[in-house]
Amino acid sequence: MTVGSALTGPVLVLNSGSSSLKYQLLIPATAHVLASGSVERIGEPMGLVSHRTPEGRYDSEQPVPDHGDALTVLRQQFSSHGPDLATANIAAVGHRVVHGGATFLDPVLIDDLVTAQIEDLSPLAPLHNPAAVAGMHAARGRFPDVAHVAVFDTAFFATLPPAAYTYAIPRALAEKHRIRRYGFHGTSHAYVSREAAAFLHRDYADLNQVVLHLGNGCSASAIRGGIAVETSMGLTPLQGLVMGTRSGDVDPGLHRFLAGLGMSIEEIDDLLNKESGLKGLAGVNDFRELERLRHSGDEAARLAFDVYVHRIKHYLGAYLGLLGRLDVLVFTAGVGEHNPALRAAVLEGLSRLGLEIAPALNEGASTTTRVISTPSSSTAVLVVPTNEELAIARQTMELIS
Ligand code: ADP
Repeated sequence: MTVGSALTGPVLVLNSGSSSLKYQLLIPATAHVLASGSVERIGEPMGLVSHRTPEGRYDSEQPVPDHGDALTVLRQQFSSHGPDLATANIAAVGHRVVHGGATFLDPVLIDDLVTAQIEDLSPLAPLHNPAAVAGMHAARGRFPDVAHVAVFDTAFFATLPPAAYTYAIPRALAEKHRIRRYGFHGTSHAYVSREAAAFLHRDYADLNQVVLHLGNGCSASAIRGGIAVETSMGLTPLQGLVMGTRSGDVDPGLHRFLAGLGMSIEEIDDLLNKESGLKGLAGVNDFRELERLRHSGDEAARLAFDVYVHRIKHYLGAYLGLLGRLDVLVFTAGVGEHNPALRAAVLEGLSRLGLEIAPALNEGASTTTRVISTPSSSTAVLVVPTNEELAIARQTMELIS
């Protein structure tokens, strides 16, 4: 493996989903993106390919039977539309992996043992980990001369204390099958909380933070002095907040109830993961669409918004109780970064708890980190744009250098 000569080059970040491969070629030090794209509908009769460079966007359709073919398509896109991968001097390939279980607490160099261990964790993430392994095999075959690094979504939450990660079910069963809370979106929570500390010119280790990552998937975390101590997702990314199509918390007894209606466990799982959340409540999973409906007087959209906010407040209150003192609250991801009404609703009535939003700052838009709380608010409320690809690229570089 010859990595030494290319340490200043760009990193290729790969995010392999069950039927998609998303990629970005970027320079970690400057965050400059040379190209990005996606191959979607892998395994379906017709795949969707999209490649973007600073010069333009190139969309096409072609069958992409598996992740190996997706990597071939990726190389073709770079050859046709640039930049030329042969001369790009790639430093490394960073792979996003959803589930690292209790095995992977930090990024690791990928070898055959690591891919086998990630595969071994597939029962915990049946849709995601096999896809990540397929992407790794394909990418290592096509980029054999650079280091490949796995960066885990769960890693940031490896510091959760036993009291937080333990489900109150029989211990022997839980230990045998590794049933516990793991947390997800860790790369984003770590990235934005560090960005927040840097923005405030504060030492990361001195701050207590709550991060609200509100995108299609949604999660909250509590971070005490730079150490993650709680998060809303659990064994799987289904637990916690209301999401685009996921229910988040429900009574576990609901499964029995639905089974009594004749639903199979697969149907129940599909219902809670794909047909619930905002989609289940209001028929739409896109928050912009939900807002459009809400403002047109749609009752279901109003209730969906209220349930979404109620759940966030519930977690925020719990984390205030857990941390005792909150220095920073961060909103991030699509909804958190772009929806002032949602942020205002979450913070409504919390000024006596030290959270005071400044309406003018909240309404303003920016694509960079900013404060939206009043100067007298004892908790600084920030909007921090997340950038998981950049975080993966930086962690990849840190490991290989
Ligand atoms: P993912 O979890 O797939 O990465 P994102 O972080 O992109 O998702 O968030 C997607 C959500 O963010 C969608 O509900 C979308 O409506 C919302 N969103 C994205 N951009 C905007 C915007 N400019 N204004 C309001 N909502 C937005």
